Amino acid sequence: MTVSDAGGPMVIVGGGLAGGNATATLREEGFGGRVVLISREPGIPFGRPPMSKTYLRSQEDLDGWYVRPAGWYQEHDVERLGDGVVAVDAALHTVTLDSGGELEYQKLLIATGGRNRRLRVAGAELPGIHYLRTVAECDAIKREAVADRRAVIVGMGFIGCEVAASLTQLGVQVTTVFPGPAPLEKVLGAEVGAAIAAIHRANGVELCAEEQIVAFEGSDRVQAAVTASGKRIACDFAVAGIGIEPELPTFEGSPVTLTNGVLVDELCRASAPDIYAAGDVANHLHPVFGRVRVEHYNNAEKQGRAAARSMLGSTTPYDYIHSFWSDQYEHKLEYVGHAATWDEFVVRGSLQERRLIGFYLQDGLMRAAVGLDRGGDPEADLDSEMAACARLVAQRARPAPGRLADEHVDLWSLAT
Ligand SMILES: Cc1cc2nc3c(=O)[nH]c(=O)nc-3n(C[C@H](O)[C@H](O)[C@H](O)COP(=O)(O)OP(=O)(O)OC[C@H]3O[C@@H](n4cnc5c(N)ncnc54)[C@H](O)[C@@H]3O)c2cc1C
Repeated sequence: MTVSDAGGPMVIVGGGLAGGNATATLREEGFGGRVVLISREPGIPFGRPPMSKTYLRSQEDLDGWYVRPAGWYQEHDVERLGDGVVAVDAALHTVTLDSGGELEYQKLLIATGGRNRRLRVAGAELPGIHYLRTVAECDAIKREAVADRRAVIVGMGFIGCEVAASLTQLGVQVTTVFPGPAPLEKVLGAEVGAAIAAIHRANGVELCAEEQIVAFEGSDRVQAAVTASGKRIACDFAVAGIGIEPELPTFEGSPVTLTNGVLVDELCRASAPDIYAAGDVANHLHPVFGRVRVEHYNNAEKQGRAAARSMLGSTTPYDYIHSFWSDQYEHKLEYVGHAATWDEFVVRGSLQERRLIGFYLQDGLMRAAVGLDRGGDPEADLDSEMAACARLVAQRARPAPGRLADEHVDLWSLAT
């Protein structure tokens, strides 16, 4: 170990999934010194996925999503501070807290996640317009979600799609407004985007594609959303899911490079000594994908753990093949890899029946794959088709498109 139990505290800033997993890993890997977890968010670290799905629909509480049970932190001598970090002095190795105090660190993990982008249009501050990241925000949406009320969803990325589905399942009449030609088109492409659009339409959601909100109207709360083309959509409430931005304290002393988050290497190390980053805030160098910042559960969990091991002296690069899932109605999406661009999209299965695996190739190289109601969960089923896809991506495979599409070819046989 390059760290000493007596060498000052390990400080984790941000008690979300990445921070919680890093904290647990420090103890589980045997660090016996002080561990301080500082978070602005009330409560213990937990996973957010049910807040657009089962928790939003009141089908599940959050207990199963805690990183560790409530008693674990005290039992493992972790100091939890309900506070924020406003500034880091990378030269002095100190953090300044919202409450005014200062704390020295031996090593510091930035796991501050992201904050929701806000709409900047007339009427955007009216009551009844919601965002979704925290439990309080989710509970506020739950209170609005009464059958037969009308909701406008702004943005059809993952949050927009999942909230549209959940609200529809609760009997809310949903209209969605989004800039692209189809939901999730930017991430998954036109073909899968069209399939997702068809699923939402089949469930009664009205889709306003290639549109944007220019204003909200209402006297004491939102009553309508107005689009660029002049459509006026009457509503009882609205939910905006228009992306996040990395949430960062300020940095002083030695320079810490901030480019779309905290720039870190394969060991989750920032440019200043003894500072690490993980989760949604970390723009990391990945051995397969190059430089990426991803906003997914599996990354936050695994990178949080990897960063903790690096803080303890491990020299193993973080090389997890990124993956995520999304649940909408009874449909399940699984995605492995990372393809910001691709020049060929190959389908195994049927887009029309909306049951397929799609492969994203760039210059013949398999960069990513998506499973729509097919392929299994690559994390839970290591023999699944999606797990085979992850292997192909990791191996930088160049499978022949015809063989990818051919149902008779076992995907595992294409991996070396
Ligand atoms: C509703 C919802 C549903 C989702 N569903 C899925 C899904 O189905 N699949 C999937 O792969 N991903 C999903 N995600 C994404 C996933 O939840 C995130 O990628 C993950 O939460 C990132 O974890 P994190 O620890 O990096 O950041 P966060 O979870 O954002 O945690 C950051 C923490 O840091 C705290 N903080 C911030 N700044 C400071 C500061 N200066 N000082 C102290 N504390 C600070 C914050 O309050 C917060 O507690 C979903 C996200 C949301 C919001």
